[in-house]
Amino acid sequence: MSKTPTPLKRDAPHWAVVGGGMLGMTLAHELCKQGVRVTLLEAAPELGGLAAAWTLQDEETGRTVTWDRHYHVTLLSDTRLRALLEEIGLAEDMRWVETKTGFYSGGKMHSMSSTLEFLNFPPLTLIEKFRLGMTIFGASKIKNWSRLEKIPVADWLRKWSGRGAFEKIWLPLLKAKLGETYETTSAAFIWAHINRMYAARRSGMKKEMFGYVRGGYPRLLDRMAEVLRDNGVEIRTAAPVTSAYARPGGGVVVETDTQTLTFDNVAFTTPSPIIARAVGDLSADEQERHNGVSYLGIVCASLLLKKPITEYYVTNITDGWVPLTAVIEMTTIVDPAELGGRSLVYLPKYVPANDPLFERSDDELRAEWLAALEKMHPHFSREDVVAMRFSRVRSVMALPTLNYSQRLPPMATSVSGIFAVNSAQILKGNLNVNETIQVADEAIAGPLAAALRQQQTHITAEDRQLQSIGT
Ligand SMILES: Cc1cc2nc3c(=O)[nH]c(=O)nc-3n(C[C@H](O)[C@H](O)[C@H](O)COP(=O)(O)OP(=O)(O)OC[C@H]3O[C@@H](n4cnc5c(N)ncnc54)[C@H](O)[C@@H]3O)c2cc1C
Repeated sequence: MSKTPTPLKRDAPHWAVVGGGMLGMTLAHELCKQGVRVTLLEAAPELGGLAAAWTLQDEETGRTVTWDRHYHVTLLSDTRLRALLEEIGLAEDMRWVETKTGFYSGGKMHSMSSTLEFLNFPPLTLIEKFRLGMTIFGASKIKNWSRLEKIPVADWLRKWSGRGAFEKIWLPLLKAKLGETYETTSAAFIWAHINRMYAARRSGMKKEMFGYVRGGYPRLLDRMAEVLRDNGVEIRTAAPVTSAYARPGGGVVVETDTQTLTFDNVAFTTPSPIIARAVGDLSADEQERHNGVSYLGIVCASLLLKKPITEYYVTNITDGWVPLTAVIEMTTIVDPAELGGRSLVYLPKYVPANDPLFERSDDELRAEWLAALEKMHPHFSREDVVAMRFSRVRSVMALPTLNYSQRLPPMATSVSGIFAVNSAQILKGNLNVNETIQVADEAIAGPLAAALRQQQTHITAEDRQLQSIGT
């Protein structure tokens, strides 16, 4: 997909892309290469969605730090994302770092960054370690992922790892990541997770290498927006789409909270329930499919600290009393010089979209989460925190529930000219930018291709007509 956009023709077909996250921006970029005019409509005041930037104010110095609202790393195996970075001129600015993983289990911190450390991991017996290791190795060899869709993840892990390893490791991890929704999640979830980590190691000299673009996603998004504008994309932020419907005689009408616009085609990249709400003319079956996608949400705190809290990029947590999914020490990867000399830590808690956690105040969460952090890391004190900000998003990741692929909404909707191209279409992976932007490629090569071909034929015919008039 490295074709360079060609200059726009007069009367080029006009597409709207709804949603200015990484998927919407990539789709807009790829549509440009097809010679169409693109308008990108984003509800928020800024681009980026889940990858958007935000600013933390250092209470001690008064200085501000702008970084990702949610932690993001790139893996060596993220080839599609790395190709995009190459295309927009940021590949040279990647910084790769070898990282370590920690496990907080039984009230203690354990390093889990090498096979030796795994073998010394005290909570498991030797047999439990062997079975757990074989489960991970076995999963990495499975090619036919679709049969895993039919099996609940807990059943699959219990069967292959045995009761001991399941109850001591897998179950607490599943609960920390998925809450009670682990019961309806398929084994494809863990397969995708293991494969991503395996692929990263395969391409990374067996070491866990994570990377980021200097300047983080704020820089990546700025550059992406610049490239889009250079290619003629009109970017409208603070433009929430409220409805879209087919116009009698052709084209699509799109309503935002302040405007009514018309396009030849529209591609939604927003979460599925938003598509169901905006496109009221979808068939009953499509409505049901979009509304039936179960989303996992997140409450995620960003903290600036006077000093680092841990040497691990990620600390997985198996102790049920800790109200967090993990602890992410971003400064194990990102140079603190980029963060005003501070340490940047994220505290994520993944929960279902309707979880009461979303209703709790910042003050309540701050008191509870910092107390937990103090208990986990005795050298940490809340006095070290110079900034703390909470992000709440209800629709983050479509859960791979049982037989998910059979209940997926179609990308080409029943409403003429409207497409649903969102991250819920990811089947063979978990949510990450590399997988997400490949949905744009699949859409262009698949369901959008017919519309694009038809429009290109139309333009060529018009061109020929104009040429013959001119001669
Ligand atoms: C805590 C966390 C950590 C992550 N870590 C990583 C990581 O380390 N590495 C990695 O590769 N990926 C990571 N990801 C995943 C990554 O952020 C996503 O894969 C990616 O950002 C999804 O992009 P998207 O465009 O599909 O969705 P979104 O970013 O959700 O974009 C959808 C956009 O649609 C807009 N929108 C919604 N409704 C409307 C409307 N009515 N009209 C117009 N616009 C609308 C939204 O405002 C939003 O901007 C992480 C995600 C989270 C939450």
